[in-house]
Amino acid sequence: MHSGLVNPIDLFREGRQAGHLAIPYSVDRSPYYQIRIPILRLKNGEGPSLLLMAGNHGDEYEGELQLGRLMRQLDITKIRGAVTILPMANLPAVMVAKRCSPFDGGNLNRAFPGDPAGTPTARLAHFLEHDLFPHHDAVLDLHSGGTSMAHLSCTLIERQADAERFARAVTLMRAMGAAHAFIADNGPAAPTSMGAAGRAGTIGLSGEFGGGGTVSPESMAFTAAAIDRLLVALGIAGEPVLSRGPLAAPPALQLLSLSRHSQGIYAGRRGWFEPAVPLGAHVSAGDLAGWYHDLERLEQPEEALRFAEGGIVISHRLHCDSQAGDCLIQVAEPIDG
Ligand SMILES: [Zn+2]
Repeated sequence: MHSGLVNPIDLFREGRQAGHLAIPYSVDRSPYYQIRIPILRLKNGEGPSLLLMAGNHGDEYEGELQLGRLMRQLDITKIRGAVTILPMANLPAVMVAKRCSPFDGGNLNRAFPGDPAGTPTARLAHFLEHDLFPHHDAVLDLHSGGTSMAHLSCTLIERQADAERFARAVTLMRAMGAAHAFIADNGPAAPTSMGAAGRAGTIGLSGEFGGGGTVSPESMAFTAAAIDRLLVALGIAGEPVLSRGPLAAPPALQLLSLSRHSQGIYAGRRGWFEPAVPLGAHVSAGDLAGWYHDLERLEQPEEALRFAEGGIVISHRLHCDSQAGDCLIQVAEPIDG
């Protein structure tokens, strides 16, 4: 077997199935090497079905750690319906602590709908969109800012043409209990997992659960609560599994819109970025966003960077060292609804 993807899980079978998706990929040190991606399937009777995935980008850890924990803690006798857990979707990227796969450079969240005869990342994307997503009522794909970016914790969905499914997605996103949430407009052909979910006829849910290539007590608690709330909202679990103690009442939800290039400040040349405002700050157009230093021309004063648009600061670059094209800081527009 030198192509495709081998799936050991029977999605119609009752009970617990643990195994690995295997993607054959011949490499120098191992001609018959297989990329082995852990997967757990729990099915307890008829009921709702949820796919939980993380490690779409390898260096985004809240989801990877919490879904690994959930694999150990979720008791099949206490669920109704089915849960599939994929804690390290792009496993090669996870194992080298990178966003993209070291084998093919593949960014899984830009690889959908994939290609069954393509690179490992393309084959995985094709399997997820065509074989796995369609068997679930909802898909939660957990992201964070990654090594290079700090991101305001938020949940996220993409707008879908199917009005009924979109309304259900909004309801479930609200149920996840974040203080901030996005509705992204990436179109029906989006190469993202959320675009794939739309094409697969399931409800796609996502979010940015932390950032910086690390985790914090706060980001882990936010992630645990979001997963627990979703399991309860879908009727799969009767009580929280990952959260320590009962779930608090969720905060009021602020919806955000990020749709224009002018909401970000991009580097136009090599430089060193110093942010002036924290994540979550409310800013106006013209406010100071940060400074751009030039360590190669120390006689030059640092450049003051100003926001072109107001809003809520949702992300900024963590690596000071920046190149032309890097996004340094972004604001999102608060919207009603
Ligand atoms: Zn990501």
